[in-house]
Amino acid sequence: MVIPKFIIKNNMQKSTKTGLYFRDLISDNDLEQISRNLTGSSQYTVEFVNNDYKDDFLDESYNKGRLGILHFKSKVYYICFSDFSNAGRNSAVQSVPTAYNMFYLNKFVDKELVFYFLPSSGNNATNYHKFMYRLMATAGFKFLNTPSELIDKLQPFNSIDDIILARKENSNRNSSNNATYILKNNNHNYDIYGKTYGANKYETSLICYAVSSLATRNDKITLYQYNEKDLKELPKSSLLVLKKMGNLRIINIDDELEKQELRKTNSIRSPRFNARLLDRFGDKKCVLCGCEINEIIQGAHIWPVSEIKKRKDLSITEQLEFATDGENGLWMCQNHHKLFDSHIIRLTENGQLKYMDQIPEAYKSYINSVTTIFCLPPKIVTRDFRHYIRLRNSLLQD
Ligand SMILES: [Zn+2]
Repeated sequence: MVIPKFIIKNNMQKSTKTGLYFRDLISDNDLEQISRNLTGSSQYTVEFVNNDYKDDFLDESYNKGRLGILHFKSKVYYICFSDFSNAGRNSAVQSVPTAYNMFYLNKFVDKELVFYFLPSSGNNATNYHKFMYRLMATAGFKFLNTPSELIDKLQPFNSIDDIILARKENSNRNSSNNATYILKNNNHNYDIYGKTYGANKYETSLICYAVSSLATRNDKITLYQYNEKDLKELPKSSLLVLKKMGNLRIINIDDELEKQELRKTNSIRSPRFNARLLDRFGDKKCVLCGCEINEIIQGAHIWPVSEIKKRKDLSITEQLEFATDGENGLWMCQNHHKLFDSHIIRLTENGQLKYMDQIPEAYKSYINSVTTIFCLPPKIVTRDFRHYIRLRNSLLQD
């Protein structure tokens, strides 16, 4: 009879400080349940190994990814254990991308990736956590057990659109505070804007894995990596996984890229401008009608790029700063954007909507029928916003 064997790195990243080791977290009962579930055998052996231990599945290091490896016959199971020791939003899933990367990049074929919820009093069922668990299920994690509060809540997503929808539902309360945004440009064409610093990278990685798992051959998906402070990317192993998955184009938002965009066109396609509008306003939503149809929402400049480029007294770096400033922009649907750029409507320094002089009655009644917001909320009307409006409106007086 073959007896299943667990090999688990005993040290966690901070074990020497906290005195808490992996063998303290996992009970015999947990191991027995896992073994029975995966192999049918309630008998097992377990070896907790130190940092210097190394084999085909574990590196010489502490327990990265909160993983245990289970060997049974010719098969290898990667078991990722939940973490509720800290109530932080990201702490419960921060090991997950690491576990996923180790699993995905290992060349061994007969392997499976599973997740085990350790018993805890933590709250695993916030909307944020549920969203993350569903991303994990989509990316290929199998859940070995389900805490009662999560029953029926761990289904994989069916499509990228499904992810976008769920994302909207769970981020309503904190709409401009996301690490990652998924935008649909048109059918089969998606942009992911992912922050890469600090804990954001865990969320960005997981969303990319799930989106990539769902992508069909017709889908064009671009990941824009960004970080306002310096040019950090996702962890190397995450980038390797995405490369291997092969259906995501990865672009870094950096000055060079932005300068190219600026030289080429007066266009609205600056990734940094979009990223900053996402940070400032949250998901795409027209500021004048509330329209949320991603495919027809654009970043509208207040002080137009064509005007910024005429200012030869500004260096290209300064021009770029104005052209990509989030306060120099608003999300608008194509209708309102066109009306705004044709100066049929304009905004005052207080954020009030005005019609052009001598506006035909038919124009006015149409605008009234498609507009629901005639005065922008005060939080949008910042000092810099007023400044850009002044610059824009001064062009109208010629
Ligand atoms: Zn609109």
